[in-house]
Amino acid sequence: MPVTHECDLAIVGGGLAGGLIAMALAARRPEVKIRLVEGGDTLGGNHVWSFFDGDVDKEDRWLLTPLVSHAWPTYDVAFPAHARTIAQPYYSIESDRFDQVVRGALPAESIMTGCKVLACSPTAVVLADGERIEATGVIDARGAGDLSMLEVGWQKFVGRLLDVPAGHGVERPVVMDATVAQHDGYRFVYLLPFSPTQVFVEDTYYSDSASLNVRALNRRIDVYAESKGWSATVGGREEKGALPVVIGGDFEGYWRWGGAKVAKAGARAGLFHPTTGYSLPDAVRLAVRIAEASDLSGEGLHALTHDYARARWDERRFYRMLDAMLFRAADPDVRYKVLERFYRLHPRLIARFYAARSTTRDKLRVLAGRPPVPIFRALRVIRNAS
Ligand SMILES: Cc1cc2nc3c(=O)[nH]c(=O)nc-3n(C[C@H](O)[C@H](O)[C@H](O)COP(=O)(O)OP(=O)(O)OC[C@H]3O[C@@H](n4cnc5c(N)ncnc54)[C@H](O)[C@@H]3O)c2cc1C
Repeated sequence: MPVTHECDLAIVGGGLAGGLIAMALAARRPEVKIRLVEGGDTLGGNHVWSFFDGDVDKEDRWLLTPLVSHAWPTYDVAFPAHARTIAQPYYSIESDRFDQVVRGALPAESIMTGCKVLACSPTAVVLADGERIEATGVIDARGAGDLSMLEVGWQKFVGRLLDVPAGHGVERPVVMDATVAQHDGYRFVYLLPFSPTQVFVEDTYYSDSASLNVRALNRRIDVYAESKGWSATVGGREEKGALPVVIGGDFEGYWRWGGAKVAKAGARAGLFHPTTGYSLPDAVRLAVRIAEASDLSGEGLHALTHDYARARWDERRFYRMLDAMLFRAADPDVRYKVLERFYRLHPRLIARFYAARSTTRDKLRVLAGRPPVPIFRALRVIRNAS
């Protein structure tokens, strides 16, 4: 007889969004019986998640504080004609620590790893081994849904941790080093100095296609290390990804995919920044909101998560328009100029941009002046933006 587990809330997917919701509820509503169901053996997969200080409200910081592995007070950007250190703290979370902290925050019976979910409804979850979970409410946080419902470009990357025994000399994160040779759209290198002898190096592209030639990108990381004079060996962590840069599309169609009435969180809910593909700031805000909600029924959670994500979609049209400018108006080899120009702006404006909280004044400032793309193409893109 297949086993049926009962609980108040079943969270499907123990990645960033699911784990944060579980932590927020464990801290603020310990009486809520949770099941966090993850297909992999660990929570959080294999990731380094980074965020800027301005991405997370001070009153929500408690949720992330135990997860942060590395913190820096400033970061750098570098372009062919402009380099700058920006006074905005930057933080990284590593998934192995995420796994430990989330496990430590929840009773052992709440965490079900190695459990693939076949299907879920607003109040039930079916596991691949035939077991079921019945819950007052279910949240689907299984990562991105069907991105073909959206019009997207791609931010794609391969990252590697390098050991540089003689020291790499990188003092702070380099969020964009675009002084490198350009290939496949806009290319830059991203650096996180985890210790004086360990640096995480990511070779990144704003590209029209999601396809990744991992071997070629690893080779470019080697060439970059050589150009810095580093005698380096690969230090263990490697990651790759292709994040959507959203230009437009059918939000409701994206939401309906995989269950129209099921509450959703994280990338599955479309809750990520249209330009960076980063979902951490939204994941924190939604987790705190869920922990404060009085109605944790399937229907109540669906209304909360859908309306929250829909409101973010509606208010982020500006970023989708900029993405269209980057992918539809700028020729790939001059995309860097759009970013170079952006990084000359005020640090607080840059911080609000990354937090997807640009003011009207910020938006006007970003658009002011002659665009670094052909003017008629830029105007056509602005007219067609959705
Ligand atoms: C390599 C990489 C680096 C990134 N870096 C950043 C960053 O620095 N900052 C940032 O804000 N964003 C970053 N992102 C983007 C985004 O924030 C992350 O992808 C984030 O992990 C998305 O969170 P999520 O919870 O929606 O999905 P995930 O974290 O991917 O979690 C989904 C979970 O669901 C599980 N799952 C899927 N299907 C099933 C199933 N059938 N049954 C059971 N479990 C299932 C998966 O195993 C996974 O653990 C990065 C993305 C990638 C790929």
